[in-house]
Amino acid sequence: EAAILIEGLSKVYQGGKQAVTDLNLRIPRGSIYGLLGPNGAGKSTTINVLAGLVRKTAGRVSIWGFDIDQDPLNARASIGIVPQEIFFDPFFTPFETLEVYAGLFGIPKHKRRTMELLEAVHLEDKAFSHARSLSGGMKRRLLVAKAMVASPPVLVLDEPTAGVDIELRQQLWSYVKKLNDQGVTIVLTTHYLEEAEQLCDRIAIINHGHLVTDQPTRELLDMA
Ligand code: ADP
Ligand code: ADP
Repeated sequence: EAAILIEGLSKVYQGGKQAVTDLNLRIPRGSIYGLLGPNGAGKSTTINVLAGLVRKTAGRVSIWGFDIDQDPLNARASIGIVPQEIFFDPFFTPFETLEVYAGLFGIPKHKRRTMELLEAVHLEDKAFSHARSLSGGMKRRLLVAKAMVASPPVLVLDEPTAGVDIELRQQLWSYVKKLNDQGVTIVLTTHYLEEAEQLCDRIAIINHGHLVTDQPTRELLDMA
């Protein structure tokens, strides 16, 4: 069974903009899957449909076997989303940010588990500092920890390294690989081919809302 199955997905925004057209994707469990395409291709729209933030116009989507229409709670619980924009309460500490978020999921507060999440992204030293005092890179790492609070089997990162320096990019990649080694299916969007090549075992390319190709990274590189 697929980690994520997208069948005939279309999205027309209010005003008539067709962002995604009849998109079919099967994202295998255990993979690091790259959704690649230029600005405006429909990547964020697709991710936002998975996240439940954008209502699809047509098509079927299931996450870890749960249909997002028929079983939205289980679908939502199966996926962690690291959004493009950084947002969390600047007055909370990283520790509080994760505990409050766990509370939203009905996960009992558990100090040890919260510290483990922070350790996984090397933020243990900042656990009790205000989030506003974190660097940009630390904030992104906190978002990764936040997305993993409910231990979802799938982690989706929307343009994780856009506007991020080389050192932090390497750091983020190594976290992503580590999580994947632990069995988490990773989906990321990027408009950097180089990033997708180095990180992903399978790459889908979309353009103008249409799927152009979807194949193992090695085959894609052989073609080029
Ligand atoms: P990306 O960096 O993924 O290309 P954009 O810069 O296109 O994203 O869009 C940033 C945000 O603005 C997104 O939340 C998107 O939904 C919204 N947005 C983009 N284009 C439009 C539009 N034409 N009308 C309204 N909102 C838009
Ligand atoms: P990408 O993430 O690949 O850059 P998006 O999914 O953000 O692409 O955008 C796909 C197309 O849909 C773009 O033309 C964008 O301007 C448009 N779009 C995105 N969000 C909205 C929105 N909320 N309302 C209207 N158009 C949007």
